[in-house]
Amino acid sequence: MQTIPFDKRVGSIWMNGVYKEWQDCQIHVLNHGLHYGSCVFEGIRIYDGKIFKLVEHIERLYKSAELLDLEIPFRKDEIIEITYQLTKKQKVNNGYIRPVVWRGSEKMEISAIDATTNIAIASWTWPSYFSPEKILEGIRLTKSNWVRPSPQSAPTNSKAAGLYMICSLSKHQAEKKGFDDALMLDYRGFIAEATGANIFFVKKNKLCTPLPDCFLNGITRQTVIEIAKKLKIEVEEKHYNFDFLEGCEEVFLTGTAVEITPVTSIDNFDFKVGKITRLLLSEFNKIVKA
Ligand code: PMP
Repeated sequence: MQTIPFDKRVGSIWMNGVYKEWQDCQIHVLNHGLHYGSCVFEGIRIYDGKIFKLVEHIERLYKSAELLDLEIPFRKDEIIEITYQLTKKQKVNNGYIRPVVWRGSEKMEISAIDATTNIAIASWTWPSYFSPEKILEGIRLTKSNWVRPSPQSAPTNSKAAGLYMICSLSKHQAEKKGFDDALMLDYRGFIAEATGANIFFVKKNKLCTPLPDCFLNGITRQTVIEIAKKLKIEVEEKHYNFDFLEGCEEVFLTGTAVEITPVTSIDNFDFKVGKITRLLLSEFNKIVKA
């Protein structure tokens, strides 16, 4: 599918307090965020004109920024209000919102404590990536050679741009081998998550998901756990080794972009798109549109 590059689109982007023409939203090549990874962001969805869990995403944006020593020069309620305004201005009914925060160009060295913190918010139409039938075909994963770092090696609770370096490398590696995505283990060898989504397993009617102690506790992950508990499905959060995959009946990913996407294989382990995945998917679809 041919898509228009992101710097060639039209519309408005809110940047540092003002709406600018989309193509004028530029930063200088000598920018701390670009060179030293001092950048955090969010990914938020709009379903039928309603922004899903906006407050939770903006809270996480501020937490991510704080973990990277970035002070957003606007109040949370201002950012929330601007996000609503922007989506209306952009006429996005089913789509995506991308807030991004980065350190500016005042310094080109490691320490940049007093450099400015910048913020921009963009939004664009982006209907569900897959049709409902396509979602149910599921995707195939392969284990990545990269592992999620320990919280002592990186601010793992933050949605920091720098943490996506190994995610892109893992996903490229997977796609080159003909898979859709990669499964990442953590620094201890426990199953962590996919490259941009959390992971769930169904084993003996129990819903199992890794403890998010060195990766994002996704907002979709938390929503799915809430749904499962309401449906009286037993939920277990633990550390799981790779061989836990043996005997798993169903597997799916959760995240703002992938929503709930079934996984039909991880290397030599095969899974079906089963009853529990279908039930959670249908309840999730009701909630996001409620
Ligand atoms: N892990 C990673 C690495 C992600 O990029 C995402 C997507 N933000 C998630 C998990 C899922 O988070 P959420 O459900 O909040 O989108």
